[in-house]
Order: sequence, then C-alpha cells, then structure tokens
Amino acid sequence: MREYSAFSLLRNALSGNRDWRPVWRKAAPRPAYDVVVVGGGGHGLATAYYLARQHGITDVAVVEKGWLGSGNVGRNTTAVRSNYLLPENQRFYEHSMKMWEGLSHELNYNVMFSQRGCLNLAHTPAQLDEFARRGNAMRHEGIDAELMTVGRIAREVPGLDTSASARFPIVGGLMQRRAGTARHDAVAWGYARGADRLGVDIIENCEVTGFRREGERIAGVVTTRGDIRARKVAVAVAGHTGEVMRRAGVDRLPIESQVLQAFVSESLKPFLHTVITFGMGHFYMAQSDKGGLIYGGGLDGYNSYAQRGNLPIVEEVTAEMLALFPGLARVRLLRSWGGTTDMSMDGSPIITCGPLPGLYLNCGWCYGGFKATPASGLCFAHTIARDEPHPLNAPFTLDRFHRGTVIDDKGQGATPNLH
Ligand SMILES: Cc1cc2nc3c(=O)[nH]c(=O)nc-3n(C[C@H](O)[C@H](O)[C@H](O)COP(=O)(O)OP(=O)(O)OC[C@H]3O[C@@H](n4cnc5c(N)ncnc54)[C@H](O)[C@@H]3O)c2cc1C
Repeated sequence: MREYSAFSLLRNALSGNRDWRPVWRKAAPRPAYDVVVVGGGGHGLATAYYLARQHGITDVAVVEKGWLGSGNVGRNTTAVRSNYLLPENQRFYEHSMKMWEGLSHELNYNVMFSQRGCLNLAHTPAQLDEFARRGNAMRHEGIDAELMTVGRIAREVPGLDTSASARFPIVGGLMQRRAGTARHDAVAWGYARGADRLGVDIIENCEVTGFRREGERIAGVVTTRGDIRARKVAVAVAGHTGEVMRRAGVDRLPIESQVLQAFVSESLKPFLHTVITFGMGHFYMAQSDKGGLIYGGGLDGYNSYAQRGNLPIVEEVTAEMLALFPGLARVRLLRSWGGTTDMSMDGSPIITCGPLPGLYLNCGWCYGGFKATPASGLCFAHTIARDEPHPLNAPFTLDRFHRGTVIDDKGQGATPNLH
C-alpha cells in the first residue's frame, strides 16, 4: 500500500487517476487468527490498528456485518472534546484529544480534525457557576477551558440571540478552544487503511451469529461466512452490544440500545465557527466545511435497533435551534438519520477483559464515542494484548456497577436515556 504524498497525488493526476490502489484489501476470512475483533466501526478498526502498531499482533481480523462506516462512526455529529468534570473521564478524553491532534500524521490520512472550539451556553447564574466549576476542574488537569461573558459570545457567534429578551437568555458560556470536529468516514477509512497495511484482515459483509467455545472459554466466532477460531475475541459493536453478547450467553449487561438522530441543513455561507451547545435542553450544532449545519439533540426515548427516528425529536431540536438562532427559521432541512447508541447506566464507557475467558468488551459510548475513537482503540488493544487494562481505562470496568464505583459525570443516576 502506497503512502499518500504530494508526489503520489501529482503522479496519479498525470496518469489520469487510474493507478490508485484500494484503501484496504477485501479480505476473505481465514480459519484462525490470534485476535478477532467483532465490529468494523471506528473503535474496532482503531483497536486492530493499535494491536498491530503498538503490540506487534498482526494476525488479526476485523469482522463487520455490513460495510465500514455503516454504524455510528458514519452517523455521528463529529464533535470532539474533553470538557468533562470527573478525573477518570478527563484523563481518558484528554488523551484522546491529544491523539486527535496528531492523527492525520499518524495515519497518513486526512481526518480533517478542525479545532474550532466547543462552546457550552449557560442560561442561568447557577448553570454558569456549574460551568465555572467544571472549567476549573479541567484546568487542574491541564485541559484548556475558558469562561466567556455574553458580550464575548455575541462577538464570536454572530446570529446567536444574546439579547435579554431571548426565549432562554444567555448569561455566559464555557469554551474549550482545542475541541472541534473531524470527518467521521475518514477516521474509519484511515484506521482501516493503517490496519490493513500492517497485515490486519478487514472482512466486510460478515455477521457474527454465534461464538465457538472450548469449555468456558470463548475460542472463536461463528459467522455468516463460516467459523473462525481465535485465541482472543474482542467485541466492539456499540449499539448491538446486547444482541451480540447474548449470543455469547451473556444476557444481562448495564447497556441499553436507543435511537439518536442527526440532522443536516442545506449549505449556508460560513457563519458558525465553533461547535455550540444549548443549556436549557439538549441541542448541539456545528457548521461543516461544505456549509451544512449539522445538529442533533436528545434520544428518541425508547429502545430500538432502527437507524431512523421519529418526528417529535425533529420538532424538539428545531425549536431549540430557533430559540438560539431565530434567523435560521427559513433554512431547509436536507437530510436526517438515526444511529443505535449503546447507553450505559452512568454515561461512561466499559473497556475490559471478560466477562468470559477469551472475551474482551468495549461498549457504553452513549452520545460520545466518536471523540473517544483513538484512545478507545489504544486502551482496548492494550487490554487485549496484555490481559490487563491500560491505566487510562482501568476505571472503566464492568464490575463498577456491582461495586457502586460508577463514573457519573452528569450526576443523573442510573437512567441511561438521560446520559
Ligand atoms: C446521531 C449520532 C450523533 C453522535 N454524535 C457524536 C458526537 O458528536 N461526538 C461523539 O464523540 N460521538 C457521537 N456519537 C456517538 C458515536 O458515534 C459512537 O459512540 C461511536 O461511533 C461508537 O463506536 P463505533 O464507531 O465503533 O461504533 P459503530 O460504528 O456503530 O461500529 C459498530 C459496528 O459493529 C457492527 N456489528 C454489529 N453487530 C455485528 C455482528 N453481529 N457482527 C459483525 N459486526 C457487527 C456494526 O455493523 C457496526 O459497523 C453520535 C452517535 C449518533 C448515533
């Protein structure tokens, strides 16, 4: 596989672009591997990449039931940030942020990481106090955070209704300038290309329908393209965690699958230069490089595997968008879709050995696993290779729900649809 460079672009331009090689091989399954990763989303692909790159484990297959990017990695609103309150989340997501900062170079693939900032709007003095507390906690961990006045926000975000007569008047905000957005597909394709180049087999259109066992131990997978033996099986299937783990005989997990929608408007001239979030409901928005407004809100509120949602959320996010930006009232919605999110009971992820011998589990990403992709892959690969967690994912165990050591950044309690 050739590297991308200015020279290769020029050479291919001169030869009519007929000489490009596929970004990854269409591998057929072999009978056995050291490691089989179930799920070719961002996390599964990043895991395979770091298994090969960091641990020299190249006898790896990523088994994906559809095509790469058909899951949440290709369906999210691409916000990348590390503005958390609790140290476990701060350290993990800030590490991920640092990895994002070098990811295009690491993969030799432009993931279009754009550090345009993320601004959380506060609408009450109490909320602003809470933002100040979170910002201070972030700064203690060496993470950038800036409390902003309404005047400053008005200068930086034209079009935002910062008047005292707004439906929900804005009293300030918390900005993380190093936050931003990235190109979702490029992240999947970049990790796929990197893993493939290191010898990993990426097997698409191959659904895991069961697990092979040797006694108690998981010893491979049963797929729609035949059985595959493996020393270790790593599951990273996001919204399908419950369904896949049930096939391994694990039928109780602290995870719920729920629908989350995303929306894109027609293209507009650039006016929104940051990711912005609403504090009086659940709404977030950024403007893509093509000019479309990319936005979303809360979950549809019921358990489902459907990758589409319903009209009440369309109405809700539109109302929230117009409360902030009344001038967008006539902008047309271009498209919308849904993704199946893996909501955990405390809003934090699970990256762990087990729960069965030979099995490894990565899930619980809720609304926020896209930004975690690099650190999740790094930590999951470490956990699989060494049979112990990386210090960054040591708190994200499965048994924390038994022990009561939950990591509840929002303080919502065990109500997954509120995280
Ligand atoms: C609408 C929406 C907006 C979001 N916005 C953001 C955001 O702004 N920022 C952020 O950080 N996060 C966001 N997220 C969350 C983020 O997208 C996910 O947490 C993250 O992408 C999940 O990890 P993944 O990429 O590996 O999952 P996926 O891409 O879903 O990968 C899992 C893969 O497993 C495959 N699979 C399932 N079952 C099987 C099987 N039996 N056999 C083989 N393969 C199987 C699926 O086909 C899928 O490709 C959003 C999610 C949604 C839905």
